[in-house]
Amino acid sequence: MPTIQSKLPGVGLTIFTQMTNLANQYQAINLSQGFPDFEPSEKLLSLVKKYYAAGYNQYAPMAGVLALREQIAQKQEALYGVAVDAATEITITSGGTQALFSAISTLIRPGDEVLIFEPAYDSYRPAIELYGGKVVAIPLVAPDFQIDWHFVRSQVTSATRMVLINNPTNPTGRVWSAADLADLADLATAADLFVLSDEVYEHMVYSGHVHQSVWSIPKLHDRSFVVASFGKLLHTTGWKMGYILASEPLMREFQKVHQYTVFSANTPVQYAIADFIADAHEYLQLGSFFEGKRNLLQAGLAGSKFRLLPCEGTYFQLLDYSMVSDASEMDFARQLIVDHKIATVPVSAFYCNSLNQNLLRVCFAKKDETILQAIDNLRSI
Ligand code: PMP
Ligand code: GLN
Repeated sequence: MPTIQSKLPGVGLTIFTQMTNLANQYQAINLSQGFPDFEPSEKLLSLVKKYYAAGYNQYAPMAGVLALREQIAQKQEALYGVAVDAATEITITSGGTQALFSAISTLIRPGDEVLIFEPAYDSYRPAIELYGGKVVAIPLVAPDFQIDWHFVRSQVTSATRMVLINNPTNPTGRVWSAADLADLADLATAADLFVLSDEVYEHMVYSGHVHQSVWSIPKLHDRSFVVASFGKLLHTTGWKMGYILASEPLMREFQKVHQYTVFSANTPVQYAIADFIADAHEYLQLGSFFEGKRNLLQAGLAGSKFRLLPCEGTYFQLLDYSMVSDASEMDFARQLIVDHKIATVPVSAFYCNSLNQNLLRVCFAKKDETILQAIDNLRSI
């Protein structure tokens, strides 16, 4: 047996798996890992059954089923006002995570530096490091997680290759402002950087906030990848379906990687999604649907010992527990599971230095009855 030399020595089980395992072990309400506890649309399920039964069971084209790419092109153009070429600028992937990973492997070489903003989604760093890239993390702190662009610019070196952003942002629930996106565009142009924009929560924006895709920003359009997830769009995180957009030259390089990573994604599901999203109402109502759930959670916790941070988008709410405990986020999250049967995610897990700010992330993509039960448990503390 040769010696195993781990390529990711610092990596263990993801925080989402750890917390879900603990939730199952202690039979706690699981508001940790971000997934809906309700079923997707019946109409979508019957479309999937239809295509499985009708013999759509062999490889899809490498870039994805054309009917689905055409629907995505229409959706993107209608929402953000910029045309997408279904033939050359879209690839259907096996989820947002695969899209992110393959985009990183397309661009990042040993020694390249990638700017990310923390708190950051957990898959970014290992993907960058596997390709010999160096993560340059810009820490943003509660309560408003403001970006200091002067500091960001000071972190750019001759080795900086890419900026990775997540908008709307998991776990903070913040939506990038037009001013921040303009600063990003100026930086990317001045330093000649690629942008990888994780927009998997694009439809979950609340209280009048508007999602602006980097696809619609002229200075960013040609130098960016945009990642989306059907898991979020359709309440089907277990299907692992998503897509990525890029201008044709970038997409050509992406597909060289994609064709040898998965080759293509699930065929019958692609046909079913193409039919389903032809009715734009199916995704245009997502914002008000999840805003109702956010409001239910916020109203239920108003006046409790937990302070709610602003939630402008995503399906995550941050809770400040400073009035309840001075335990570390990890310890307090464990205590909540064991003693109060409620699972959350410590926000420190999204920082490389485990910064503790007395914050927990809760997922409100849950049935109203689950949210109400969670409110009872939290209010009893
Ligand atoms: N990016 C972010 C910010 C996420 O929260 C997630 C997971 N929910 C993903 C990407 C991955 O999406 P998928 O489940 O489609 O791989
Ligand atoms: N994106 C989900 C979250 O933030 C988790 C996905 C996963 O478990 N890897 O909770």
